[in-house]
Amino acid sequence: MGESTTTGDTTAVMVTGATGYVAGWLVKGLLEAGHTVHAPVRNPDDANKVKPLQAMADAAPGDIRFFKADLLDTGSYDEAAAGCTVIFHTASPFVMKVKDPQRDLVDPAVKGTRNVLETANRTESVQRVVVTSSCAAIYGDNADMLDMPGQIMTEQVWNTTSSLDHNPYQYSKTMAERAAWEVADAQDRWKLVVVNPSLVLGPATNPAHATSESFEIVKQLGDGTMRTGAPHIGVCTIDVRDLAQAHIAAGFVDGANGRNIISSTDTTIMGLADALRDKYGSDYPLPKSTVPKFLVWLVGPFLGYSRKFVSRNVGHDLRADNSKAVRELGLSFRPLKETMEDMFGQMIEAGRI
Ligand code: NAP
Repeated sequence: MGESTTTGDTTAVMVTGATGYVAGWLVKGLLEAGHTVHAPVRNPDDANKVKPLQAMADAAPGDIRFFKADLLDTGSYDEAAAGCTVIFHTASPFVMKVKDPQRDLVDPAVKGTRNVLETANRTESVQRVVVTSSCAAIYGDNADMLDMPGQIMTEQVWNTTSSLDHNPYQYSKTMAERAAWEVADAQDRWKLVVVNPSLVLGPATNPAHATSESFEIVKQLGDGTMRTGAPHIGVCTIDVRDLAQAHIAAGFVDGANGRNIISSTDTTIMGLADALRDKYGSDYPLPKSTVPKFLVWLVGPFLGYSRKFVSRNVGHDLRADNSKAVRELGLSFRPLKETMEDMFGQMIEAGRI
């Protein structure tokens, strides 16, 4: 981490969505650095999600305090934010298949972001807010890369192709990040720093109850879904533990600013399988060949993928420019093989593959 980091000065911080996959490692890192973590969660009585966080705090120099809050309940984060210097806003639904995209994705993402940032406006102690956005706020379909300068994702680009009907999760993240900048730009007491992670992979801190869409993607590599082959789809990835360090740097490094692409590896679905092949290739039906695009186009709708999704994603690579975050947040990354082996091994142990 850069010289300007102030993680040594312990302070009270709030983490929304502390029960989630991404936030698990962030909370762990904050507790290990000695911070007091205020964790507003939907259900503080859900022992399956809360106890592992408490156990983390018991083993670390920092403390954790739980509060009850919901993204859609205006003002519900105020009590948890009181006395905190930094707010990490990670809570947002990460699900690809929903019944009602407005209700299930966009409302909690956008209204939730406004709700949490308006709490920052009312809380004198808050100096910085770190919002977990996504590369999904930069691109919607892989084909969007064709229109980007240099055909690479940078912090200058915004997703303009997603909607309620097409890639609604990506739409929810784009609209939520836009709302975050609107609230932040209307005041000058606290600073907004946004992290834009690519696909997050790696082990969970609470493997038995991890529900992020990240696990569904890796499960399909090992459960036989892709036995006959994988479509050629480019993916950019980041290890969940490296992402936690990126959040901590975004929260405490003096010069952290603006949007920050947090991504280590440009690969494909087959590249994810290749990273598992040495250790797991003989025991699990990992994909070995690429399914031709016309075949994916034919069967896509039966598997829940629209023809538009297939034509704009299959056969298209992805590239992300991580240089701003590496330089300004002082990041370094684990290799993909370590990330994938740790995640897959943990999912086997938890009986999920
Ligand atoms: P996750 O494990 O499903 O975590 C989502 C968190 O949001 C959970 O703590 C959940 O609380 C909370 N949440 C959802 N709806 C809520 C509501 N109405 N009120 C309060 N809390 C609510 O997913 P994740 O992968 O860790 O995602 C965390 C963040 O990272 C999201 O903002 C996501 O968009 C972003 N991100 C993820 C990836 C990825 O590949 N995983 C990539 C880029 C960005 P409960 O435990 O109560 O459900």
